[in-house]
Amino acid sequence: MNNFRIGNGFDVHALAEGLPMWLGGIRIEHNKGFVAHSDGDVLIHALCDALLGALALGDIGLHFPDNAQEFKGIDSKVLLERCMGLVGEKGYKLVNADCTILAQAPKLRPHIDRMRETLTPILGVPVDDLSIKATTTERLGFTGREEGVAVYATVLLCREE
Ligand code: MG
Repeated sequence: MNNFRIGNGFDVHALAEGLPMWLGGIRIEHNKGFVAHSDGDVLIHALCDALLGALALGDIGLHFPDNAQEFKGIDSKVLLERCMGLVGEKGYKLVNADCTILAQAPKLRPHIDRMRETLTPILGVPVDDLSIKATTTERLGFTGREEGVAVYATVLLCREE
């Protein structure tokens, strides 16, 4: 059994006007929000996939099907808690996570510390062990046209002593 396991996750959600934007576990004021079965928190979904991927437990769609009534409109923080539960059941804990958000708008820098403060208690790590970065794609592609937002996440897990 390995002491360390790495995982990566990727997710995209489409943007539409007049919907609430939930990103990184917090509500962000913006004229658009995510089209989704859940609250559409694309950052949390990428993190969940990275955690599941590190343990080869499949993906978020397997554990939380988007046609299940149970998950309609669900707060994605609940999904993250469940993924961390699986990590614990397997005898692992998070070492650190690094996420990159690809979004043309809104400006995310002012919101990033609140995202880290919101998510790290669920992840069971200090704020310093969750990195969240944001970049535009220089107006190129679907993120650049503000049609959607994409997030990459990488996690490292280690076996609990
Ligand atoms: Mg998703």
